[in-house]
Amino acid sequence: MAVVVLHPGRDRSVRRRHPWIRPGAVARVDGAAEPGVQVRVLSAEGEPLGFGHLSPGSQLRVRMLWFGKETPPEDLIERRIAEAVERRSGSPLLAGTDALRLVNAESDGLPGLTVDRYGDLLVVKLNAAGMESRRERVVAALRRATGAAAAFERADSSAARREGIAARQGPLWGEPPQVPVWIEERGRRHPVDVVAGQKTGFYLDQRDSRDLVERLAAGRRVLDLFAYTGGFGVAAARGGASEVVLVESSAAAAELARLALERNAPQVPARVRREDAFRVAREPGEDFDLIVVDPPPLARVRHDVPRASRAYKDVLLHATRRARPGAYLLAFACSHHVGPDLFRKIAFGASLDAGRPLRVLGTLGPPADHPVSADHPEGSYLTGLLLQV
Ligand code: SAH
Repeated sequence: MAVVVLHPGRDRSVRRRHPWIRPGAVARVDGAAEPGVQVRVLSAEGEPLGFGHLSPGSQLRVRMLWFGKETPPEDLIERRIAEAVERRSGSPLLAGTDALRLVNAESDGLPGLTVDRYGDLLVVKLNAAGMESRRERVVAALRRATGAAAAFERADSSAARREGIAARQGPLWGEPPQVPVWIEERGRRHPVDVVAGQKTGFYLDQRDSRDLVERLAAGRRVLDLFAYTGGFGVAAARGGASEVVLVESSAAAAELARLALERNAPQVPARVRREDAFRVAREPGEDFDLIVVDPPPLARVRHDVPRASRAYKDVLLHATRRARPGAYLLAFACSHHVGPDLFRKIAFGASLDAGRPLRVLGTLGPPADHPVSADHPEGSYLTGLLLQV
């Protein structure tokens, strides 16, 4: 087995069970440094720290799977997959939906593996060399642990480039999916394009916030900015909104949003505008009682944070101006670099500039099928605020 030896003093994060080792921490690799091989990790003094998967060309040079001196069991990956599925099964926090995340990468001790379940179909992403080179084992373990009728692999081209692996897409077993796949989540029905849609097809991480919108929407005029396939708009319509307006730039997503509104709440007046949400937010008129602002990630790296903060503030400022007194505003940032404290400051800045008080009623985040491991704070990427004007 190849051995990775760290530089002196660069073993601290591994000792704290952090799963990532960056190239700068690695003094040398002894043995066959093939992509994805299991490596033993040693401190500069030769103390065994654990085992991980090697990605020779990646900024995440080693992803740790196992800490300490002991050798991991042969079937570590199979066990972790079974445990991830088991932890979710029967969880009261995850009741009432046939769509959920089954494996959340590092947070489930399985770096490089993401698996979502949409009814009887799994959608799988293998986005690290370690998982890619163990694909047969991973696929067999998923099939055994879930009993799903079919599984489809989604390519992640940027991860493939980083890792130097092939970006593969297609069925892993069972029939190829017929899109859209319809899921049922707490009474809402959503169409999911598992083949070409964003992420694995749906923003499963916003489930609990959709529930909240459904509870808050009765009698309200609702604006859903950055709507994708209308997750929030559908929840609002089902919750008794008087009218819903969705804004989304992608034609394919807007089309599914129309389909979803028609299927869930044909009686509620609804409009899907295929436009720039930053621009629509600026239109005049204080005319909405519930506004959702859920933009794409604006800060992918730390360096982007100042610019992203201004962009978030700008869109929140304009959204606040569109709100009637008493309106609810749900604002989200999906970047690890914009956490709850910073996001709250941004919201207060928007409130000052809008000349209207905003009250924080609560903090929002992903549901229990998207856990964050204490060992891996980077896994925390979605933060949201429930505000009232
Ligand atoms: N709220 C959605 C997820 C939003 S993800 C849900 O819960 O399902 C962000 C969305 O914003 C994506 O669908 C993306 O296509 C869209 N988008 C990106 N830039 C945009 C822009 N300038 N105007 C409108 N939509 C945009």
